[in-house]
Amino acid sequence: MSISDLGIDLHSHSTMSDGILTPKALAQRAAANGAKMWALTDHDELGGLHEAGAEARRLGMHFIPGVEISVTWCGRTVHIVGLNIDPESLELSDALAYIRSGRVERARKIGERLAELGVSGAYDGALAFATNPQLVSRTHFARFLIESGHCGTMSEVFKRYLGDHKAAYVPMQWASLADALSWIHQAQGTAVIAHPGRYEFSPLQFDALFDEFKRLGGEAIEVVTGSHTTDDYRTYAQVARRFDFAVSCGSDFHGPGEGRLDVGVVPPTPKDLRPVWADWL
Ligand code: AMP
Ligand code: MN
Ligand code: MN
Ligand code: MN
Repeated sequence: MSISDLGIDLHSHSTMSDGILTPKALAQRAAANGAKMWALTDHDELGGLHEAGAEARRLGMHFIPGVEISVTWCGRTVHIVGLNIDPESLELSDALAYIRSGRVERARKIGERLAELGVSGAYDGALAFATNPQLVSRTHFARFLIESGHCGTMSEVFKRYLGDHKAAYVPMQWASLADALSWIHQAQGTAVIAHPGRYEFSPLQFDALFDEFKRLGGEAIEVVTGSHTTDDYRTYAQVARRFDFAVSCGSDFHGPGEGRLDVGVVPPTPKDLRPVWADWL
């Protein structure tokens, strides 16, 4: 079996952002699941890469240092994954420290909105789930809302409370698309549009996003991800052909029992498309 057929996972999260496993435990799970090439891509954070890389290499995996950058585009949140980045890049780590800095204040406001909606203690409850207090995220609020019995599932949390423009949504100005690509490229990385199937854009807006990403030197798009249905695989494979993007694949694993795909277990990408990892081997 060639490496392009099995065992490639280029999107996952540890306790350094909103994942449940430590970077080391995540590396061990990826290896146990048969991953040959694995990327840690925590949200707006590089702090887990050293531990993850050391354990991944010890277990014989090809480790790809990554990050998932929060971007605001057209009034909505879009995620851009940077792969094969230099984890020591000061431009990238300084920029990420800056975009992380608004999270605590935003979390306080989410707590206040939830209190107005009858959910008390959510800020402290969310923080109790966040290993990295700088990286308190909507996922931590979601875990609190489920644990405290206010919601049954993650998707219910986002539909009722935390999804964009829902009852407890607090708007956030993240990085611009141009800045995110420039930071990734300054760190010698490859820029990937994460899970396009999750964004609620019109067809015209999608084309504008792909055009602008291409113009800014964006290289790849996720086709196979835990956030996509098999219909989405076909839709975004077609986008990759139209815009001549390389394709990426990743579980977007956050923890056991959450999401569709386990870390390291990702279906193959379409054979006719150029894989993003081809240039790294
Ligand atoms: P934040 O970075 O704080 O805005 O939180 C965004 C995170 O929430 C994403 O990285 C996902 O892990 C999670 N998330 C967003 N939308 C959903 C959804 N519809 N269902 C489950 N998790 C979601
Ligand atoms: Mn997440
Ligand atoms: Mn994402
Ligand atoms: Mn992700």
